[in-house]
Amino acid sequence: MKSKYWLIYIWFLPVLLLTGCGVGQQGIFGMDESGDQVYRDADVAMGTVVQQTIYVDNTCDNDKITDDIFVKIDQLEGELLSRRLEGSEIATINQNSGIKQEISLELAKILEECLQVSKASEGAFDVSLGKLILLWDIDSWTRDSDGEFVVPSQQQIEAALADSGYEYLELEDDTFYMPEGHTLDLGAVGKGLALDALGDMLQEQKGVTAATISLGGSVLTYGSKPDGSPWCVGIVNPFDTQEQLGYLELSGDWCVSTSGDYERFVEAEGRRYHHIMDPATGYPVENDVKSVTILSKSGLLSDALSTACYVLGVEKGMELAKYFSAEALFVTTDEEISMTEGMYSRFFPGNHMMDINVAEE
Ligand code: FAD
Ligand code: MG
Repeated sequence: MKSKYWLIYIWFLPVLLLTGCGVGQQGIFGMDESGDQVYRDADVAMGTVVQQTIYVDNTCDNDKITDDIFVKIDQLEGELLSRRLEGSEIATINQNSGIKQEISLELAKILEECLQVSKASEGAFDVSLGKLILLWDIDSWTRDSDGEFVVPSQQQIEAALADSGYEYLELEDDTFYMPEGHTLDLGAVGKGLALDALGDMLQEQKGVTAATISLGGSVLTYGSKPDGSPWCVGIVNPFDTQEQLGYLELSGDWCVSTSGDYERFVEAEGRRYHHIMDPATGYPVENDVKSVTILSKSGLLSDALSTACYVLGVEKGMELAKYFSAEALFVTTDEEISMTEGMYSRFFPGNHMMDINVAEE
């Protein structure tokens, strides 16, 4: 089991955001220098790698805390979020499009927040793009790249776009409706909102003093490390994913999400097609953005905004981030970094040679 996941871990390493920043791997369970106990573990869930480090004091009565975290992620995926797994709430909603459905309050709250981001981004972020996302199916293709990727036809793209649009989603308390054939895909927010749920779980568990959990491109920091040092969250260089552009020094509870064109993409007909869709065209976004990192107190927002800002580009993306009181960092194709002041105040550059622009408040 462990040797299998380490293989997967190495395979996925470039997409990880959490940097060691001097922290070494200490095995599954050990003592921190301060004497606090620390649990570390890694596994695969939601189509990505999950890494966790959890510090506990002697009042903690749960030595299975890391297992509980994995169980919670699996539960969110299997029961609530996955459009791939039959029986999840999202899969059921998709099967019952065209009729009014009663949904859980948990999902209603998530969809309400997603709709707020859709409205504020004028549809750049849209969880109803499921049909288009399935048509391109870049996530699956990146995983099992067998044969030749076939670029969808303009006709297929238009048909998929015709069956989408956040403005057609109706949500009133726990009643939800979407037109027949429309399909939800929460791939752009699932990992972020999972971090929110995991943060709540850590809060409820007696004796957890600090933790960090990374779910692919989204990272949660929780509490303060026993030695008082800040959390360090690395930002991958989208031009060379083995390198970091720099890292963020964070104190306390934060969520950091990154979206980029370098993780999940296929090359066909001499072009690169990645997994972030432009709802205006039905094609993968084509602009000057290589990656976007968002810092927010909310995991859902950090994840949703990283996708939305990627679609919108630097100027409009900065405005959107500010609207939601989030900090943003853009890397553009001309090898420049643009970021908000709040991000800049926490950013420590690596050895890269990129210009940095800081947006005025
Ligand atoms: P983000 O930018 O956060 O999201 C990109 C994803 O959002 C796309 O892959 C697409 O799904 C969606 N999207 C694209 N454009 C838009 C847009 N304009 N507006 C809104 N959404 C958009 N992948 C697998 O390969 N196998 C799995 O078994 C698997 N299971 C998953 C289960 C769950 C519950 C979730 C949430 C994801 C799963 N994934 C799986 C998906 C995989 O992890 C995605 O690549 C990931 O969610 C994308 O996240 P990101 O942070 O890389 O990019
Ligand atoms: Mg996202």
